[in-house]
Amino acid sequence: ATAFNDRVAQAKALNAFLVETPDHALKAADAADAARASGDLKPLSGVPIGMKDLFCTDGVPTTAASGILDGFTPTYESTVSANLWQAGAGMLGKLNLDQFAMGSSNETSAFGNVISPWRRKDGGNAPLAPGGSSGGSSSAISARLCPAATGTDTGGSIRQPAAFTGISGIKPTYGRCSRWGTIAFASSLDQAGPMARDVRDCAIMLEAMAGFDPKDSTSLELAVPGWEAGLSSDLKGKKIGIPKEYRVDGMPAEIDALWEQGIAWLKDAGAEIVEVSLPHTKYALPAYYIIAPAEASSNLARYDGVRYGLRDLPDGAGLQDMYAATRAAGFGAEVKRRIMIGTYVLSAGFYDAYYNQAQKVRTLIARDFDEAWTRCDLLLAPTAPSAAFALGEKSADPLAMYLNDVFTVPSSLAGLPAMSVPGGLDGQGLPLGLQIIGKALDEQGVLNAGLAIE
Ligand code: GLN
Repeated sequence: ATAFNDRVAQAKALNAFLVETPDHALKAADAADAARASGDLKPLSGVPIGMKDLFCTDGVPTTAASGILDGFTPTYESTVSANLWQAGAGMLGKLNLDQFAMGSSNETSAFGNVISPWRRKDGGNAPLAPGGSSGGSSSAISARLCPAATGTDTGGSIRQPAAFTGISGIKPTYGRCSRWGTIAFASSLDQAGPMARDVRDCAIMLEAMAGFDPKDSTSLELAVPGWEAGLSSDLKGKKIGIPKEYRVDGMPAEIDALWEQGIAWLKDAGAEIVEVSLPHTKYALPAYYIIAPAEASSNLARYDGVRYGLRDLPDGAGLQDMYAATRAAGFGAEVKRRIMIGTYVLSAGFYDAYYNQAQKVRTLIARDFDEAWTRCDLLLAPTAPSAAFALGEKSADPLAMYLNDVFTVPSSLAGLPAMSVPGGLDGQGLPLGLQIIGKALDEQGVLNAGLAIE
C-alpha cells in the first residue's frame, strides 16, 4: 500500500486521481497483516485499489467529475465499494472520469482531462486519451498506480478505456452488481465492473463486487459463481461467433488484423469459429444515444441546488432562478447536451417517434443476440474501431466521439456480459482490445475466452 500510495502521489501529471485516500489503503494493509497472522485472509486482503468517482464513498468526497457535486460528501457507502472493503481491499483514492460517465475520452470531466501513459511512436509527446468514461481507472492501472480499479459501463465505459490502455475489464450481466450508491447515468444500462491488469484479477475483483442487493430493484437474486476457480483457457466444444455486421466501413486494417489474430488464438484454444449475423447492429448507436440521454435527463433532475453539492443563489433570486443558475453553472457542456436530447425525445410530441422507437429497436437488438446464441456460445469482435486518439482530436465533434462506441453499445442494450482484453499493439505501438460477448449470466465463458486470448 505504501509503494502504491507513493506512486499515486508522484503521478499527478496523469490527473487520474481526484482525491487521494492513502490512510484508507494503509488501514486495509494493517488489517491484512492481522488477518494473515490469524489465518483468515480474505480474497482481496490488503489490495489497494482505485475507486471510480461515480461510487459514493462514506466520508470521502464524490463528484461524478461534475461541478454540480463539488463539495458533496456522502454519508453512505455504495454496495459495490462496501463489498470490496468487506473482501479486504483498501482505497488509494477516487478516480477521475467523464462527467456523470458521459463520454469516451475522459475530456468531459470538470476537473480536467485524464492523460494516458501511452504515446504514439510518431506523435512526439502528444497526450492521448485514456478512453472513457472510466479513464482515470484505465490510466491509473496502465501506469501501475494501482493493481485494479472499479469502472462502470453504460455503453462501453469499462471496455473501451481498457482497450485504449492495454488492460482488461469486464462488464457483467446487467443486474450482477448492485447500482445502489452508484451515481446514476442511465439506470437500465448502468453496470459496475472491474478493470485490472489481467483476466484473473478481473475475476477476483468481480466476485467481490457482485451479488444480490435488496436495495437495487434490478439486482439479480443469484449466488455469485466462483469465477476465479472456474477459469480455464481450454475452449474445446465452444463455438465462437463472428458477427459479420461488425465489419464496418472505414475500419483500420490493423483492427481487422487484430480480429483475425483473435480468431486464430481462440481456434488454438480448441474453439470452433462460426459466422453469425446481428442484423440490427447499425441501429444500436442511434437507439443508445436516445435511450441513455432520456434516462439521464430524468436521473439528473435531482441536481437542483437543494439536495447536493453546488448551490448558486444569485442576489434576490427565487427558487426557479436558483435551480436554473445552479444547473447552468454546475453541469458541463456534454451533460447539458444529453439533458436537452433526453427531454426532447421524451417530450409529448416526439415520444413515439424517438423514445418509443428506440425501445423497439432495443428489443430487436436483444433478439438478434438470442438468435446468435442458437448458433454459438460467445462472440468475438474488436472492442473499439480505433486505437487511442489524441486528446482534443474528437472533442469538438460529438458524433465522431459517439461513433467510437459502435462495438460496445449493442451488448449494453441487451444487458449481456462483455469483456475487453489486450490483443496486441498497432503500428504506432498503441494497444488494441479484443471484445468477448457472452450470453446473459455467462461471465465464466467470457472470462475463459479472455484467458485464452491473453
Ligand atoms: N461513451 C458512452 C457515452 O458517452 C458510454 C459511456 C458509459 O458507458 N458510461 O454514453
